[in-house]
Amino acid sequence: MRRISIFGATGSIGRNTVDLLERQGGREAYELVALTGGRNVAVLAEQARALGAKLAVIAEPELLGALREELAGSGTEAAAGPAALLEAAERPADWVMSGIVGAAGLAPGFRALRSGGTLALANKESLVAAGPLLLAEAERHGARILPVDSEHSAVFQALVGEEIAAVERVIITASGGPFRDWSLDRLAQATPEEAVAHPNWSMGQRISVDSASMFNKALELIETKEFFGVAPERIEVLVHPQSLVHALVGFADGGLMAHLGPPDMRHAIGYALNWPAREALPVARLDLAAIGRLDFAAPDETRFPALRLAREVMTHGGLAGAAFNAAKEVALDHFLARDIGFLDMAGTVEDTLARLSGEMRLGAAALSLEDVLETDGLARRRAGEIIARRNRRQMRG
Ligand code: NDP
Repeated sequence: MRRISIFGATGSIGRNTVDLLERQGGREAYELVALTGGRNVAVLAEQARALGAKLAVIAEPELLGALREELAGSGTEAAAGPAALLEAAERPADWVMSGIVGAAGLAPGFRALRSGGTLALANKESLVAAGPLLLAEAERHGARILPVDSEHSAVFQALVGEEIAAVERVIITASGGPFRDWSLDRLAQATPEEAVAHPNWSMGQRISVDSASMFNKALELIETKEFFGVAPERIEVLVHPQSLVHALVGFADGGLMAHLGPPDMRHAIGYALNWPAREALPVARLDLAAIGRLDFAAPDETRFPALRLAREVMTHGGLAGAAFNAAKEVALDHFLARDIGFLDMAGTVEDTLARLSGEMRLGAAALSLEDVLETDGLARRRAGEIIARRNRRQMRG
């Protein structure tokens, strides 16, 4: 039986993964090695019972008692805390979903590669912060990484049977999020509630806000460079409000391969789960005649500076991605807490990168995961200081 683990099982990607496993035979078809959650004990325990998981880990140590209680009599072992997450990642599995949100997903993903199976990577932050290290670790252990981000899954699918040397450009699409047509003045006043309301995709809170600010697309630009080894100047972002074309690959002969599908993550997750086979998936079939039209536009980097910042990060290379992601996560936390405005997120990230480039060589290659985590920590502290100073200034003014 295929051995499966799901990191971030209680989140949007995790729940979709569980849904697919249940539709594809559940506990009769798969051996569930480990399921993990952050704080949602009830959902984690329910999933563990339904799939007959051997181990369930909750990241918050204080919730161990609650998890044990929920799992009493189920036969599922309960554990909690960061060390338990790493221990779960070490348990041999053939297919592991990396679905934790943020830099917290980095270390478990690295550890999961050691058993030489397949890492289905939804956690784009891993590639942004530590792409070369992650790919090298996979190679060292004979493990495979498959993309789960819809755009990257689309590129991966468009490349089947193709030579990467013949790729002229890669185009990833962006819906433009809920603020696609908003003016800068209006963006300055945007609230977390407005930012989270994505027009097409149903996703976790953090990636939804990142979509509204285009930081999600910025992360994906870097993810594309790292995963496919495509030069930054060959990667383009195209605004496509319908979210039906996920990516296009342009080849040397002028041909363009597009991947279309409904905005339902179960397609990309299912593709990674069943790869290299294609199994039937419970996603809607597109009726293009009924849809009638597909719209495209160039992104506006003045209103959405995250894209410009991502290009700067790719120029630096090395540890810049770790700093970028960490500063973005801090800025996002403060925006969600209504400590800073929507546009201040990009300002904070830009100021953090500028400050760090005076303190360290942002382009220096990361030699180990510890290097990455150290830069992550430094960027978090600097971003926090920059926000505190800005807020003090505003209170005085
Ligand atoms: P969610 O916020 O819905 O879920 C995040 C998961 O991570 C939950 O299981 C959560 O636990 C867990 N978690 C949160 N913090 C920690 C922590 N510190 N330690 C351990 N676990 C933690 O996120 P999504 O599912 O939306 O996104 C997951 C990843 O997939 C992200 O990297 C995102 O960018 C990427 N992705 C998501 C897509 C989507 O459609 N949602 C599309 C493409 C990529 P709990 O809820 O129990 O607290």
